[in-house]
Amino acid sequence: MSERQMHLAGDWTRGAERQEVLNPYSGEVIATVPRARTSDAERAVAAAVEGARQMRALPAHERAAILNRAAAIADERVEQLAQTIAAEAGKALAEARGEAGRAGHILRVSAHEGAAAAGEALSLDASPGGEGKLGFTLRQPCGVVVAITPFNYPLLLVLHKVGPALAAGNAVVLKPAEATPLTALMLCEILLEAGLPPLALSVITGSGSELGPALCADPRVRKISFTGSTPVGEAITRVAGVKRLSLELGATCPTLVLADADLEAAAAAIAVGGYVNAGQVCISVQRVLVQSAVHADFLDALVPRVAAIEAGDPLAASSTIGSLISEREAQRVERAIAEAVDEGARVLVGGERDGAVVSPAVVDGVAPSAPLSRDELFGPAVAVTPVADVDEAIRVANDSRYGLGAGVFTKDVTAAMRFVREVDAGALHVNWTPLWRADPMPYGGLKGSGIGKEGPRYAVEEMTELKTVVIHGLA
Ligand code: NAD
Repeated sequence: MSERQMHLAGDWTRGAERQEVLNPYSGEVIATVPRARTSDAERAVAAAVEGARQMRALPAHERAAILNRAAAIADERVEQLAQTIAAEAGKALAEARGEAGRAGHILRVSAHEGAAAAGEALSLDASPGGEGKLGFTLRQPCGVVVAITPFNYPLLLVLHKVGPALAAGNAVVLKPAEATPLTALMLCEILLEAGLPPLALSVITGSGSELGPALCADPRVRKISFTGSTPVGEAITRVAGVKRLSLELGATCPTLVLADADLEAAAAAIAVGGYVNAGQVCISVQRVLVQSAVHADFLDALVPRVAAIEAGDPLAASSTIGSLISEREAQRVERAIAEAVDEGARVLVGGERDGAVVSPAVVDGVAPSAPLSRDELFGPAVAVTPVADVDEAIRVANDSRYGLGAGVFTKDVTAAMRFVREVDAGALHVNWTPLWRADPMPYGGLKGSGIGKEGPRYAVEEMTELKTVVIHGLA
């Protein structure tokens, strides 16, 4: 067990109180970290005000150089990062290696986008009275950015905030998820080693419900970038006041399987998209809306594939997926499946719980009105609902308060185009599931799934402010 410090106002500190970090699979305490107080949050923001001044004064190429050096260090430490992710998140090692392997790339893309951020010339003489004036826009950093992150991708989702924020010349106060602070602290070490000014990044560990409101309400903070559940996102909007907000929230992502689809391909993709990271992915496939004509054939293709997924010890080479983030969460998923069964659905495979591990499940005949369709599951199960035709598939897909991602399997271009035009989701995938992301692409939901876009170019835009400049008095 290790004793870790947090990085607060330019120094590593032990903090007055401590809290434990558990391995969710074994229940073992793997480390302790500080339990920061609201006074620490206040200090972190005060230090970030000075950090932001220093970052803004650094030329873009120097900020990019820091991030590129950090990327090289992250590349060297992929295995260490992966072991830490696996231990604190219960993520299967192969998946954790995949996550850690993307760190260098996200940092490099962020470095590039931060340095490329620019304004534009304005055609002022398009309006009467604009003749003889020169207009252009300038981008400047927001200043102090608060980043609050969830447990499910403890490196990737932190990087998608910290990378663009620093590249754009801001200072960041990061509050990682309580369950997964160790990876964030390791990333902070990497950035400092790469030459980041120490006041530019504080990583404060502790309770979200205590530190979150203190950070989000602070008027010195100009931008909040939050990824997590919709209820917490809503709570943030109530305390934030006049600030820029990016909210990446919950989802119940649908995948449509139409009668003309390649059913083997659809089943193979859904057997991945519903179960990666034990289903704890915001873009996980939760609802499968399959046209009745191919319902039985599709299930014949899907069930054996899901039965073949090995869920267990994250560190065992045989495990495809690991545990959920806690036994409590696993019990919640077990209950959600049992409730669907009480309402008439059938479990075709999986759904058994052993500690924090839930075996991958396919639940068939789930009503669109059932909680397993309507509420975010965040677990390794898909809810299958037969639909008559493409009209009903689109209607049911949209019958959700969320709108993060969606997929359709079909060979019919017209049906695919109807899907991309009519389904309200931030990302739409034709002949794939919503569980797909390239780091540079714009990423973010509609409706209750959030506000704003990540992906370094878009995050840099959201973490900078546009100023309009007009030069008068030219001849
Ligand atoms: P969560 O909402 O419980 O916690 C997220 C973060 O918010 C944590 O750091 C937590 O400590 C902090 N927090 C808690 N209360 C707070 C408050 N009152 N004010 C400010 N911060 C507070 O989410 P989680 O369980 O860690 O993660 C799972 C959720 O995240 C799911 O709903 C999932 O869909 C969502 N998620 C969304 C995306 C996306 O891109 N849309 C990506 C990953 C996860």
